Amino acid sequence: MIVVDRIATMQALMRQYRREGKTIGFVPTMGYLHDGHAALIDRAREENDIVVLSIFVNPLQFGPNEDFARYPRDFERDRRIAGQHGVDVLFHPEVDEMYPAPLSVQAVVKARTDVLCGRSRPGHFDGVATVLIKLFNIVMPDRAYFGMKDAQQVAVVAGLIRDFNFPIELVPVPTVRETDGLAKSSRNVYLSPQERKEAPALYEALKAAAAAVDRGERNAEAIRRLVREHIEAHTHAEIDYVEVCSYPDLTPLSALAGTVLIAVAVRFAGARLIDNIMVELPAADRRGE
Ligand code: AMP
Repeated sequence: MIVVDRIATMQALMRQYRREGKTIGFVPTMGYLHDGHAALIDRAREENDIVVLSIFVNPLQFGPNEDFARYPRDFERDRRIAGQHGVDVLFHPEVDEMYPAPLSVQAVVKARTDVLCGRSRPGHFDGVATVLIKLFNIVMPDRAYFGMKDAQQVAVVAGLIRDFNFPIELVPVPTVRETDGLAKSSRNVYLSPQERKEAPALYEALKAAAAAVDRGERNAEAIRRLVREHIEAHTHAEIDYVEVCSYPDLTPLSALAGTVLIAVAVRFAGARLIDNIMVELPAADRRGE
């Protein structure tokens, strides 16, 4: 595995691979790797000649009161895990390398930001889009792998790739969970033992919502209430949002139809957690409206 921290080195290396006709799979992350990241890497390993993993905690996507400074970091551990999963190139730039000067041009995400994490984290997706434009131009991948745990991110990145004509196939990868259902996340290490015990209630609530939809529930307000009540009954977390929207355009729904995303974000004292579940319904199903 080659470890690179310079953009120019990275671009020269990637140009070489392209000249050799190799396909390139790219997994962008903020590090502190877990099995969710590993699922993305493994999928990229199956589908490409070269696998590039980036580890970069991007300051642009953190709000002023968010956890940029205390975001967990352990590069030596990450390097070992990346090697074990067959990563060919590990790109690990410093902040100064990625942002040597204030940006003269910055991306602004116009669609899908007035809901979910876009609403509670203003500017977050602008920061994500900006760093991905840079990373896509540095890595020049054929495919890029993103986790469905961040479903809104997948939808926003699909828009970015389409709007800016990046010749990149976006590959969404299902959420990897702990055995008790908690979605794996780098931030889970910041949960207190009590919070860790309560945290599986998020996915339990989402599964209960999906079961209600299976039984015929089509009213979004009823679904939101069910999720809220389950989380309130089983955790001390403060609910940031519970939303029911269409996917991938992320329009809030009053009646469920088509591909529906049920998504939740909560704040524990230790960490903010998100999770979601997707349900498929006939598009023409208008019952309940
Ligand atoms: P992060 O390092 O948290 O920015 O995540 C990097 C990538 O890994 C993103 O595409 C995430 O959606 C994905 N990811 C994070 N957690 C999981 C998980 N539990 N299952 C699948 N993918 C994940």
